[in-house]
Amino acid sequence: MKKYIIGNWKMNLNVHEASLFAAKLAQTVKVHSDVETVICPGFLALEPVSLQIDHRQMKLGAQNCYWRDEGAFTGEVSARQLCGLAQYVIIGHSERRHIFGEDDRDTRFKVQAALRNGIRPILCVGETADERDAGDTEHVLCDQVASGLMNVASGQLGEVVVAYEPVWAIGSTRPAGTTDVAAATKVIRDEIGRMFGVAAAKTVPILYGGSVGGSNAEEMLSVDNVNGLLVGRSSLIASEFAKMVEIAAEID
Ligand code: PEP
Repeated sequence: MKKYIIGNWKMNLNVHEASLFAAKLAQTVKVHSDVETVICPGFLALEPVSLQIDHRQMKLGAQNCYWRDEGAFTGEVSARQLCGLAQYVIIGHSERRHIFGEDDRDTRFKVQAALRNGIRPILCVGETADERDAGDTEHVLCDQVASGLMNVASGQLGEVVVAYEPVWAIGSTRPAGTTDVAAATKVIRDEIGRMFGVAAAKTVPILYGGSVGGSNAEEMLSVDNVNGLLVGRSSLIASEFAKMVEIAAEID
């Protein structure tokens, strides 16, 4: 399976800054046939960045979408509107779940919306520190995976990407340990296997996200069941992002 290096720029960079940064990435990030490199700017920067990048080098992702295709939903952006512009969309990121109150139902509907509009959903799942301390990690991950993928048809599973992002590791200085990542990503793959069959589950890329950068990318990418990285802060440093792409290209 290809490796995935996906940069989530979050609510950073205005349109001009995003264009400049995309130009810098275009000069820094190398193309590797076995690495899918994706950048996820804010909505406003998607089009200018799209016109600027070589899509063989980097694909574009959005950071969110609404699940209705169109209508009176002031301020929302639908997967249908993203179609043709973004090839990926991040869904159920912990900041959406915990700051904006998105629940598993929203996440499920958004996964559906992405798939029906030809956009690959990156479904984020992960436990909070409290859930982890209470020994609930496995339960939480199974619930979030089962709920997020509930209405996905077997034929659509090949389009789905899942990211394991422990909430306590995001934006912190505390990445998860590799033993925990191995256990969590196995739980995720097993749950997908229960839903779609073991063979199909093996085809789903599972990413790790949470305080990862050039210095720990290799150990994370070496964990069984980890097929890539979802990167926040370090994706805003061109040399770090390019380094992670290189590390991904070198790992079997
Ligand atoms: C994220 O927000 O998905 C993330 C992984 O952030 P960071 O890399 O900054 O922890």
